[in-house]
Amino acid sequence: MRLLLILALTASRLSAQETSLFGKKPSAVTAPEPAAPATTIGASAPADGPDDAADTSVVITPFKPFAQPEAKETRTFSLAKMNRPLAFESTRELQRLFSAFMLQHVTDAGSAGFARAPGPITTIEYVVQQDLGDGRLLVKANWNASADGRLPAASEAFAVMMPEKAPAVGEKGTAVVANVGMVAVRFTPTFAPLAGRRLTMRREAFIECAPLTDGTAGLQKFVDLVRSGSEFSVFTAEKFPCKTCGGLGFTREAQKGKLEDKRIPCTVCEQGKVTVRIETKFTP
Ligand SMILES: [Zn+2]
Repeated sequence: MRLLLILALTASRLSAQETSLFGKKPSAVTAPEPAAPATTIGASAPADGPDDAADTSVVITPFKPFAQPEAKETRTFSLAKMNRPLAFESTRELQRLFSAFMLQHVTDAGSAGFARAPGPITTIEYVVQQDLGDGRLLVKANWNASADGRLPAASEAFAVMMPEKAPAVGEKGTAVVANVGMVAVRFTPTFAPLAGRRLTMRREAFIECAPLTDGTAGLQKFVDLVRSGSEFSVFTAEKFPCKTCGGLGFTREAQKGKLEDKRIPCTVCEQGKVTVRIETKFTP
């Protein structure tokens, strides 16, 4: 139920980009600061001097929200056309698309269905550094690159995290999480060597989620949900033959006095193929 709420919050944040997922004070959100993201805690010196030392409030605001990929084209996968002659809706294509779907969706605890993940899914190992309140933790963490390649791996990095059940400060944990982009955390550390210094850190933020793991059962459930009216779509990068060069990867130009044409590498494709981001929507 909580995840559902978080995802709903995330969805609104992604559309409006002004609601704060992690913060209580969305009013603090203005245009993103142009400052370079801090890479180490040592580099994040206190942002300003005259700050009230007694202020120990925590303000978390989106800094660089994770951008969902935009699709250049949209198409529809109709289950009713499955395996008909000439239809692209084949069993194999459905399985391929569902593999991508699993990387882009999580289990929705509320409806027992699927919800779009707010960002790339990965596994994180963390040690809790500080409880920031409202289920948000400042952690020191290692995480793997996401399977879709959109999130690079990191080690010994500070991050903000919302686990399902928050462990105590100093405890270790492992979780499957979705990255929701970078947030700015304004707080007063309680750990050495920064304890008591008011500062702002810009960090990757994650929420714990329940990934889709069982491909076969998951696909059957997915098909049943689509047939009963659930609306799902998946983003994929598809390769098509290049129209400019006819799929050759080069164009020809006649040369004076020579029998052979000059081959000019095509500038709009890679070896005759162009990659197009497509959103495939599923219908019964
Ligand atoms: Zn080309």
